[in-house]
Amino acid sequence: MKEKIKMTTPLVEMDGDEMTRILWKMIKDELILPFVDLKAEYYDLGLVHRDETRDQVTVDSAEATKKYGVAVKCATITPNHQRMDEYKLHEMWKSPNGTIRSMLDGTVFRAPIIIDSIKPAVKNWEKPITSARLSYGEVYKSFEIRAEEAGVAKLVFDGESGKHEEVVIHNFKGAGVLQGMHNTDKSIRSFAHACFKYAVDTKQDLWFSTKDTISKKYDAQFKIIFHEVFEEYKEQFEKLGLEFFYTLIDDAVARVIRSKGGYIWACKNYDGDVMSDMVSTAFGSLAMMTSVLVSPDGKYEYEAAHGTVTRHYYKYLKGEETSTNPMATIFAWSGALRKRGEMDGLKDLANFGDQLEAACFDTLNEGIVTKDLVALMEGVTPKAVNSLDFIKAIRERLEKRLA
Ligand code: NAP
Ligand code: MG
Repeated sequence: MKEKIKMTTPLVEMDGDEMTRILWKMIKDELILPFVDLKAEYYDLGLVHRDETRDQVTVDSAEATKKYGVAVKCATITPNHQRMDEYKLHEMWKSPNGTIRSMLDGTVFRAPIIIDSIKPAVKNWEKPITSARLSYGEVYKSFEIRAEEAGVAKLVFDGESGKHEEVVIHNFKGAGVLQGMHNTDKSIRSFAHACFKYAVDTKQDLWFSTKDTISKKYDAQFKIIFHEVFEEYKEQFEKLGLEFFYTLIDDAVARVIRSKGGYIWACKNYDGDVMSDMVSTAFGSLAMMTSVLVSPDGKYEYEAAHGTVTRHYYKYLKGEETSTNPMATIFAWSGALRKRGEMDGLKDLANFGDQLEAACFDTLNEGIVTKDLVALMEGVTPKAVNSLDFIKAIRERLEKRLA
């Protein structure tokens, strides 16, 4: 047996829930621990432990990410009313991803894992489209009122200087709903920096879209800040032959569909939530979508874009065979280990990330796949296997590559 690959700085490991928690262990046991002398600081973000620690574990894991710089995260349940009952929770804890994102002031970049035998639903897409989502504020940090009766709704701002601003949102004649949301120049600016930096890093054009024709102060501020920040990157963009392209969100949607791909599409928080799901589905499968949170000071948290795959988990609990796709979770590990290797100057570790991904491609290109991909593949006769057999097939190919 070859000596295991050494690490110097711990990787922040955030465990999660349901089917992805099952996959997490398989991936570690089969694809990581046999090859890497894993140095990890482990945080159990599974809902049970989040509840036990009153969500302190989520905060601690984000602090650790700030300290060490690289994290890998398993998908986690965001509690709703049904989960409150199911897990007998003390509180409806906030989305861990939301907490971590706001603590790191980070931007989420999502890119599809592309293989030759899976053609995107949009036939002119030739290259990946990376979506970037502002991860602070808006509807995710909004306050809402259910107005039960007629009345006046107002938006009020009291400045520290004593400046008072007040507008009437609506004179309700009867019941209705209200929502107050915000963003800050600081978060928009961080987002812009992360996007321009990532565009330069990955040598891709950057598209940004809002609805500033309707939202003349809120969305307009995004447009202003992006153009300001762009001045700092203009030279680099010109040198690399890159383009920064601003347009309205609805125009952007139309252009994205007609495009060849190969750029970063930056969106506000909610647009990014929705549009990145559309883009990832059109590229084939949510199970093949990677996600990385990047903070403006260069901290990285890698994860899969999909959730905990609840439906498969309940089948698994009943003892039924499941064929859940672990690709995006494996790529979270490979991405995190590669980044850790790059940061610490550990070539073997960085190379391990590359080889692990290559072993995944070897497996898929031979037609060995999970069930979700079978209907999507063209030109090969796929053989669907269960999750563990799929991971074991990757391990065989990884062993050959590292031999
Ligand atoms: P999901 O877990 O992404 O699963 C939705 C459906 O997509 C699955 O039922 C499955 O379809 C398919 N799918 C997703 N990932 C797959 C994979 N790796 N392999 C095969 N099929 C896959 O979304 P959800 O059901 O809406 O959410 C479940 C839980 O995850 C929720 O509690 C939510 O809060 C949480 N969530 C967490 C994150 C995160 O931590 N980043 C993100 C989103 C959601 P079929 O059932 O048709 O096979
Ligand atoms: Mg979404």
